[in-house]
Amino acid sequence: MNKLIHTLIFSCSLFLLATYSSTGFGQEIAVYSARKEHLIKPVFDLYSKKTGVKIKYITDKAPVLLQRIKAEGEKTPADLVITVDAGNLWHAANQGVLQPVSSDVLTANIPSYLRDPENKWFGLSLRARTIVYSTERVRPDELSTYEDLAAAKWKKRLVLRTSKKVYNQSLVGMLIKEHGKKATAEIVKGWVNNLAAPPFSSDTKVMEAIIAGQGDVGVVNTYYFGRLVKKDPAIPIALFWPNQSSGGVHVNVSGAGVVNASENKAAAIAFLEWLSTAKAQQVFADLNMEYPVNPDVPVNPTVASWGTFKQNKINLKNAGENQAAAIMLMDRIGYK
Ligand code: FE
Repeated sequence: MNKLIHTLIFSCSLFLLATYSSTGFGQEIAVYSARKEHLIKPVFDLYSKKTGVKIKYITDKAPVLLQRIKAEGEKTPADLVITVDAGNLWHAANQGVLQPVSSDVLTANIPSYLRDPENKWFGLSLRARTIVYSTERVRPDELSTYEDLAAAKWKKRLVLRTSKKVYNQSLVGMLIKEHGKKATAEIVKGWVNNLAAPPFSSDTKVMEAIIAGQGDVGVVNTYYFGRLVKKDPAIPIALFWPNQSSGGVHVNVSGAGVVNASENKAAAIAFLEWLSTAKAQQVFADLNMEYPVNPDVPVNPTVASWGTFKQNKINLKNAGENQAAAIMLMDRIGYK
């Protein structure tokens, strides 16, 4: 009798243990995120609720997180790094912090130009860095391309964010890939000549300057436009999709990679794969009024109301590879 009870208890606990690990209960992964807490926590919570996997995380600026992972070395608790901008993801890979992940799910769900050709990072949400204009002083048919913002007709009418921001370094890095350094230098020189005011510290300030009449056109990430319009739908600015008959709109991503020294590689990959699927894509993108990277996932109606556009499909690794060249070029030209 005693033996039977023991056997029963033993089988029960084996069964429980099996259920426990197959559903992820008891599993834990750690994420270092440069994407802000309020833009990631709901996604983590959703995954934990669904699978039982606990997600611990810290948030900080990308260089701080990379430095920390390097300092922690083999002992790092980090399994996954999330950053904004492909330039930062490229840096993480380039500094040896990320490992390649071969996953059919990720390659099927994420278009190739939005992920590392060596599979060390994957875009998870997409933002367009596009033209914004004053609906009071500019007609959309006067606009055409990023390159055209260097034309004399925009003299003292252009407002830009500082070149210190990675978003502009990536934009110029991608222009270098497309046009070469010499032609890109001419474009950037034209922009600087057309500035209506010294470069601003944020995309929001660029748009506020246009609203205040300080300038007429600018270049911003779509979600910052979304935030302003949400606060006041009557603001006299609109988005324009440039380069539709040439290379397409410059897009960038927020994305992730699995840490080299991760001790929970399988769990980290499973989470990353889930992030590329429909429900997660929708939540991840909607939190910041971005576009899903997975082309099968519908765009949020507010974001969709800004119109459809052709994207530039040059691989985003070029934003990282050309970052140093972009910084030097902008510095030389005097784009502050
Ligand atoms: Fe941003």
